[in-house]
Amino acid sequence: MSDKIFDIGIIGYGPVGATLSALLSSLGLSVVVIEKNEGVSPTARAINTDSEQLRTFNFLNIASKIISNSRKVHRVHFTDSEFNPYSTINVPKEDILGWPPTLLFYQPELETIIRTNNRKYKKLQILENTELMNVENTNPIKLNIRNCREYSSIYCKYLIGCDGANSFVRKHIKASLIDFGFDQDWIVIDAHTTKKLSISKNEVQQICDPNRLKTYVPGRRNHERFEFKLLKGESEKDFTRKKVWELLSPWINRNNSKIERAVVYKFHACIADKWRDKNIFIVGDAAHQMPPFLGAGMGTGIRDAFNLAWKIFLVIKGKAGENLLETYQLEREPHANWTIQQAKIIGEMMEQYSYREKGEKYIPSNTGYGEVFPHLTYGYYGDPTDGLIATPFCRFNLDGSKKDSDGYFGWDFGLISKKKLTKEIDLILKKLNIKVLIVNHPKLKNYFKDANYLLIRPDKYLFSRSKTNSELKEALSELEKQFSLIT
Ligand SMILES: Cc1cc2nc3c(=O)[nH]c(=O)nc-3n(C[C@H](O)[C@H](O)[C@H](O)COP(=O)(O)OP(=O)(O)OC[C@H]3O[C@@H](n4cnc5c(N)ncnc54)[C@H](O)[C@@H]3O)c2cc1C
Repeated sequence: MSDKIFDIGIIGYGPVGATLSALLSSLGLSVVVIEKNEGVSPTARAINTDSEQLRTFNFLNIASKIISNSRKVHRVHFTDSEFNPYSTINVPKEDILGWPPTLLFYQPELETIIRTNNRKYKKLQILENTELMNVENTNPIKLNIRNCREYSSIYCKYLIGCDGANSFVRKHIKASLIDFGFDQDWIVIDAHTTKKLSISKNEVQQICDPNRLKTYVPGRRNHERFEFKLLKGESEKDFTRKKVWELLSPWINRNNSKIERAVVYKFHACIADKWRDKNIFIVGDAAHQMPPFLGAGMGTGIRDAFNLAWKIFLVIKGKAGENLLETYQLEREPHANWTIQQAKIIGEMMEQYSYREKGEKYIPSNTGYGEVFPHLTYGYYGDPTDGLIATPFCRFNLDGSKKDSDGYFGWDFGLISKKKLTKEIDLILKKLNIKVLIVNHPKLKNYFKDANYLLIRPDKYLFSRSKTNSELKEALSELEKQFSLIT
């Protein structure tokens, strides 16, 4: 291996490492990925994605391709053992981000789309069949790697561990996992129908059967996902083929479907107490793991990746100080923590609903999936109780342009103004590299209530809403300070 110093070294080419390497490469950085296996993992673990991830995929121009290879969800039901709904959530066609709020994909296909797109980045090098053996905290960071029996070293300025639940990088930075004590064994079955069936193909079922909790998720095209909780004393060996077909009998049978795999997983709920040590970071399952009930494990990793990518880029390009990197854990940890708790709540809701059939009363205090993701707890200015500040900003089409608002701002900070700006404000915006859009779109009605100026972060979260010039100046100075911008 040459003595070349890469801007970024990424360990792990799972869905999160692949997305992060694409984001950083699309920004023009040189990236090397170390992956111990070869090719896309054949197992379909993650199945659900959401509008915020589609926004990220759209930055890579692959969102439409992902949508056309996925299934839209119309409804999610919590049901009794006979599939009679206790409660139903209707899923809108799209949300304010302009994408479906929830979408079911087939993981090997999704990863293939990301990897195929990655071939276009000239400064991205993927080293498969290569394992990270050791990290030396030198400057640049030295990575000792092994490809078959050959040992070599490579160098990078920043190292990012996307190396999954047993992360080597997490152990290297001496981060510990905080365990929320929600380990459960479930058998996960992926099947493919071989004939057209009449089972509802756009409805997810969380079956709160007191004899065994079950989940049915209609995957894309002919893929079907089933999950069954193991009962006390059961283990993988109890799930013979005969038993598996018995479990699947309400939906599919041997004559109309094939089983791809049936594997017992132990779900965990945990989060790392430390996400960074100097120039080394952890992202995705390396930093957090959660039960699958919210379908948000991979998505939480992709949110980490989007959050970290623009920050590292600004620091490497000398446009922001190193302090900006401190905000990665400050912003992402509370969000990931909330998501884990929410996934736990859905698991608990299923359990509690199941008591009803045993004659016990249960009135859920939570709708489960209707909850909105929480505000940023750092990295905004103003009062987030307006429900807008610190949340993902909307996306809208621009008149007379093929670009939408996301495409217009790209990776820049943005200012949306209802009216012409003063020369003084113009100068500050130029100094801070903030892109301006003077527009009043129907989608902005709520945002512009009592405000004339909206500041948007590169990851398209709303930073602030201001009414007057002096309020805007204050917000700009706060933005410069919070993101350690160098002018
Ligand atoms: C049954 C099930 C259902 C799920 N459903 C959903 C869902 O619907 N939606 C959702 O968002 N999430 C879901 N998840 C979670 C999701 O699968 C994970 O969160 C996601 O795969 C994590 O991606 P990752 O890239 O962080 O890690 P991984 O996919 O684990 O990738 C880590 C990579 O790092 C490599 N690696 C590790 N160590 C080294 C080393 N030393 N050197 C080189 N390479 C290394 C590994 O080979 C691997 O390729 C589900 C999980 C399960 C088990």
